[in-house]
Amino acid sequence: MTRQVLIFVEQVAGEIQPVAFELLGAGRMLADKLGASLAAILACDVAGQLPAVLIAHGADQVYVAEDPELATYRTLPFRRVLIDLISSMGEPPHIVLFGSTTTGRDLAPRIAAYFETGLTADCTELDIGPYEHTNAQDPSKVGLYPDCLYAIRPSFGESLKARILGPWKNPQMATVRPGVMLPLPFDSDRTGSVQSIPVTLQPDDLKLVVAETIRATGSQVELQRAEVIVSGGFGLGTPEGFALLYKLAGCFKNSAVGSSRKAVDAGWIAHAHQVGQTGKTVRPKLYIACGISGAIQHRVGMDKSATILAINKDAGAPIFKFAHHGIVGDLYQIVPELIRQLQMQPI
Ligand code: FAD
Repeated sequence: MTRQVLIFVEQVAGEIQPVAFELLGAGRMLADKLGASLAAILACDVAGQLPAVLIAHGADQVYVAEDPELATYRTLPFRRVLIDLISSMGEPPHIVLFGSTTTGRDLAPRIAAYFETGLTADCTELDIGPYEHTNAQDPSKVGLYPDCLYAIRPSFGESLKARILGPWKNPQMATVRPGVMLPLPFDSDRTGSVQSIPVTLQPDDLKLVVAETIRATGSQVELQRAEVIVSGGFGLGTPEGFALLYKLAGCFKNSAVGSSRKAVDAGWIAHAHQVGQTGKTVRPKLYIACGISGAIQHRVGMDKSATILAINKDAGAPIFKFAHHGIVGDLYQIVPELIRQLQMQPI
């Protein structure tokens, strides 16, 4: 029987969330290395064209659980769907991946606990490789495990990368930090199969009722979708400095304002804007860092941006070591000049 890599698809109001496409990108790479197939589980009220979209982004097979009770995420119904699916498979999937989002962090541990298997949280890299267990004190596990999931994540304040393995039992599970893995391009020529799966929710699964959903409005932060991010740090000196950054961001389409943690801790801007280890991971086309020193905890959240422009008055600031372009000077002189020039030539 073909081995499977399975990813959990997050959807909100019928819209597949970007992290699902990122998981398909990572899952495709793992499946190809294993010679396995890549499956996706979509739980929703109405699937419509979504399975075809998942196939076009890399899935070989889409399991669809459709039920009105699955319209909005709730822990217990979604837990039931996943446990039923995995239990019904003759052989459990080799690997199961979730986004390291509020939903993924809630759901993944419950699935891992049910199947008494390992789960590595918040991974930034994944790979396949061998592991040889030689610990004679544990003879039942001694041996070579050729196809382990290498779940890789920063640890000890991002100063080390830990490679975490749980080869003893499948599925090997991980949650993956959003914004880190690359999605595959949409390919409408890709083919795959779609399989409806039964939904057998129990009354106990439905005890929690979602009375109302209040969505953040458009002015809220869409950092992970923005193509251009203008980020401010402690070098702004005052919370009012962010008004200038909003003005610069307004010169670009599909832009957002980010920040360092120090600016958040100072109370200058909400945590939702924070980029970095304890904030969001972003990968925009352009990241403009204004008055940010470039501490490792900030860097890990943005250094995969296609182009990084740093503005800092200290020529020795660490950010200049990894920025693609740098301007040494006072941001309060440089940013207004940038705005002036961009407004003359709108992008
Ligand atoms: P600073 O380090 O104070 O740098 C300010 C910079 O502004 C300086 O380089 C200065 O030269 C420059 N500057 C000053 N005035 C001007 C001016 N007028 N014009 C131009 N430049 C000017 N940090 C994050 O950002 N994100 C995280 O998710 C995060 N998580 C963390 C998790 C842990 C466990 C820990 C320990 C720390 C974390 N940090 C995080 C904090 C991180 O270590 C740094 O303290 C923080 O990133 C520094 O923010 P900053 O660059 O804005 O401030």
